[in-house]
Amino acid sequence: TLQREDFISALDEVRPAFGVAAEEFDQCAANGIIEFAPHVADILHKSHLFVEQVHQSTRSPLVSVLLHGAAGSGKTALAATIAQQSAFPFVKLVSPESMIGFTDSQKIGAITKIFNDSYKSPLSLIVVDDIERLLEWVPIGARFSNSILQTLLVLIKKQPPRGRRLLLVGTTSERDVLAQMDLSAGFSSEIYIENICTLDGLQKVVRHARLFDSQNDYDALFATLADYIAVRSFSVSIKKLLLLIETARQDPDRHSRFMDEFGTIC
Ligand code: ATP
Ligand code: MG
Repeated sequence: TLQREDFISALDEVRPAFGVAAEEFDQCAANGIIEFAPHVADILHKSHLFVEQVHQSTRSPLVSVLLHGAAGSGKTALAATIAQQSAFPFVKLVSPESMIGFTDSQKIGAITKIFNDSYKSPLSLIVVDDIERLLEWVPIGARFSNSILQTLLVLIKKQPPRGRRLLLVGTTSERDVLAQMDLSAGFSSEIYIENICTLDGLQKVVRHARLFDSQNDYDALFATLADYIAVRSFSVSIKKLLLLIETARQDPDRHSRFMDEFGTIC
């Protein structure tokens, strides 16, 4: 039977704009997740454990994880995938793109509102994407917004109210900068997102993207690539590689175009 408390707590329960947030996340991983190396499955497995931890343990109402790696390494797509897979009733994306043109205090207001809304849901997941951009950090003169930094420092460590649980997923390409600001220390754990740096990884992505129709074309490209990387170490982000493949696809000579473009970045 329903009691007065249930009625009160029902009033308190926000109806999250679930559809809207879910769509945002769909866009982030529009190209899907390609398992180009074993670490990709590892990351998804580890994150699944964090989701379970928040779901099940009453002792850890707040779990936070920072995904860090080079620009384009796939941090946003992975964070979005974690959010989608969690199936938590409240999932939200805090991203610099959604706050273009905001003043510092508008940004602080928007970020704080998302956290406060999450405290009304029993289980929440917030992705704080591209943290250095949120802070308006620029390497020239090492400038950033101290007021946004102070807000994040507090919110990242703030325990949700009794009975509420929150999984926080942050992303950054500037882990060292965040460490200097004491922000990375606020996260309970960190996961490093690697670039692609093996021939096998390149092959998996090129095949997944179906750059060619025939096995011979693949063999030829992979042979050229093997020679090319035999004498140099390389590292390419998944974002750049997927873009490069699409560029090569437009050219009648996909093989040469791929190698040309690859040469300019590796
Ligand atoms: P930025 O540093 O610019 O913010 P990012 O690290 O957030 O970049 P994403 O924007 O997530 O990178 O871009 C990665 C792209 O690669 C996405 O389109 C995603 O769908 C695709 N992708 C394919 N395989 C993977 C993978 N294993 N991990 C992550 N992203 C992948
Ligand atoms: Mg990103």
